[in-house]
Amino acid sequence: MIIDKNSNFNEKDLNFDEIDQGFTTKEAIAEASRCLNCAKPLCRTGCPIENNIPAFIHALSKGNIGEAREIIAERSNLPAVCGRVCPHEKQCEGHCILTKKQKGINIGKLERFIADFDAEMNLTKDKMPAKTKGKVAVIGSGPAGLTVAGDLAKMGFNVVVYEAENEPGGVLLYGIPEFRLPKDVVRQETNRIASLGVTFITNTLVGVNITIDQLFERGFDAIFIGTGTALAKDLNIPGNDLFGIIQAIYFLRIITLYNEGKVDQKEVPINAGDDVLVIGGGNVAMDAARTALRIGAGKVRVVYRKTEKELPALRSEYEDAVAEGVEFCWQSSPLSFVGQNGRLSGLEVETPMGKTILSTRKVLLAIGSRPAARIISTTKGIEVNSSGYVITKERPYGMTTRKGVFSGGDVVHQPATVVLAMKEAKLVAKGIADYVEAKKLLEEC
Ligand code: FAD
Repeated sequence: MIIDKNSNFNEKDLNFDEIDQGFTTKEAIAEASRCLNCAKPLCRTGCPIENNIPAFIHALSKGNIGEAREIIAERSNLPAVCGRVCPHEKQCEGHCILTKKQKGINIGKLERFIADFDAEMNLTKDKMPAKTKGKVAVIGSGPAGLTVAGDLAKMGFNVVVYEAENEPGGVLLYGIPEFRLPKDVVRQETNRIASLGVTFITNTLVGVNITIDQLFERGFDAIFIGTGTALAKDLNIPGNDLFGIIQAIYFLRIITLYNEGKVDQKEVPINAGDDVLVIGGGNVAMDAARTALRIGAGKVRVVYRKTEKELPALRSEYEDAVAEGVEFCWQSSPLSFVGQNGRLSGLEVETPMGKTILSTRKVLLAIGSRPAARIISTTKGIEVNSSGYVITKERPYGMTTRKGVFSGGDVVHQPATVVLAMKEAKLVAKGIADYVEAKKLLEEC
């Protein structure tokens, strides 16, 4: 479904189909042909993982889609994901020289086209290298874990990924909604990483079902922790135990499961016609608000304590939310939840005009998340900072205070973006490779 922001858009048309339908082959080649192939490609500087953007666009402009995919694979294991959810306007596209003339190349959409076309037509296959370099366990299969797994497998490591959920993908699968990132696209990417010889063991919560020490006993040379920030933050104001206050990341997860037929409708905490308030101003708040509308909420208002200009969500996400009918209450700081008989009936907020009560029976909280302590509480020697984020070193890059245990992604750097988790993970993969090589050399001596 494509929503024209200027059209008289009907909220009833909203569904979970992917909004952006992507380029046709003709459109993609025409777009690629507009690239100036600059001598100093600023787009590449703008990409946190330094994708060779001009080279893959040039290959595509000549119709060489397989070659374009191979160029992307040199730096990225998740092009179909990045092509869809990266903040391109701040990164590659924001740096494109043509953007200054309002004619910037749609780089994200080209990357997505190449990855999707390649997957659909089975054009390229990564070579599976012999697994001779050592054995590495990866905990968590979000963008950080998938990147470490893919990079190390390509370098010749035997990699086993342990994932708590029943499928790999992390937030890509259970957080970002289907209408922005279809689950089959995530599966397409994880299958490709599995085809490099990576083993995925799901339904395994490390720290509960198995410990780090037990993993070392299984012969792993190094372990990577990429467990993200799964614990949602609470709003510590009066009334926060009333029925009707729901964590946005829990809601998004349930909707994913519901859309896949894995949970019953009675598990879905928002009902048709509900008047919903979403507290927060980031991408999670936008996703929760837009998802609530899609499952039939009557009215959805985002409550944000600052101004429109200060909204941390991507501009494009905000504009899409507005176009779909989400309303915004600016400069509204929550003071207390109000309710009767244990049930929520409203949210008291402070605004520049004074205090007011916004009536509602359902609140979705999207005010941030933090790491769980399951692994560090069951393992000696892994230090975290006062907020629970894992402390890592520069040499070998990404090693924690426990020898052989590495970490990266949101669990180290706080909730950020897919590509920033990937950027760090790429550096940590190199750190792990250097460490294991040195370890093996010492063992041989
Ligand atoms: P995660 O993706 O959180 O993955 C961690 C994985 O570890 C999970 O699979 C989890 O199940 C597993 N795990 C946790 N503990 C254990 C354990 N003890 N044992 C085994 N497995 C464990 N970023 C963007 O760039 N663009 C966007 O549009 C965007 N939208 C977002 C929307 C939402 C709703 C959310 C929540 C985030 C969004 N982000 C977006 C942020 C982005 O998804 C994260 O920054 C990124 O996923 C972090 O990657 P990660 O691998 O560090 O952690």
